[in-house]
Amino acid sequence: MALNVQILPVTPFQQNAALLWDDVTKEAVLTDVGGEAERLLEAVETHQLNLNAIWLTHGHLDHASGVEELTTLHPVPVLGPHQADNYWLQALPDVTASYGFPISQPFIPTRWLKEGEVLKVGEHTFIVFHIPGHTPGHVVFYSQANKLLIAGDVLFRESIGRTDFPGGNHSDLIRGIQEKLLSLPDDTRVLPGHGPMTTIGHEKQHNPFLH
Ligand SMILES: [Zn+2]
Ligand SMILES: [Zn+2]
Repeated sequence: MALNVQILPVTPFQQNAALLWDDVTKEAVLTDVGGEAERLLEAVETHQLNLNAIWLTHGHLDHASGVEELTTLHPVPVLGPHQADNYWLQALPDVTASYGFPISQPFIPTRWLKEGEVLKVGEHTFIVFHIPGHTPGHVVFYSQANKLLIAGDVLFRESIGRTDFPGGNHSDLIRGIQEKLLSLPDDTRVLPGHGPMTTIGHEKQHNPFLH
């Protein structure tokens, strides 16, 4: 019984959307549907999966602006981010226009997420951590059994998320990473919103923002 992960970078920002699925039940989730909805659905079809939900880490355009198109093509519940990111989702028409993305309409997710909620991909369990700082409503998804963290724009390989956008807060971000992420096992794999994968152990040793 394995959890499969396929990384699908989308948008000019090369945001790491991920297709997660349970090998046995074929149930699947897409995380951070920033764009290229048709391509993401092709991956679902290629593996003959049953797509159950979209999970969002935060409301930035490169993570959320493909949701409207994807749910139009293939209606599924949208879970997350935390409600504190609502202002980003409502700003999507302006933000997508200003970055030259296809114009995305504002939306309200099926369900906002909170610290400690448990989500499932088939038989695989993920816990939600709320880590504000990059955005106030940023959440991440952690599977202890699979040693996997879907980190969005909180933690990157040897870097951290920007905090200079409206609503950003550097000290909140550092505190959230220190308290909730660096306490995870060193061999936890980290899938960030941009760039290569890393591990908690690597970041403890080599991330210059965390010393
Ligand atoms: Zn972001
Ligand atoms: Zn991003």
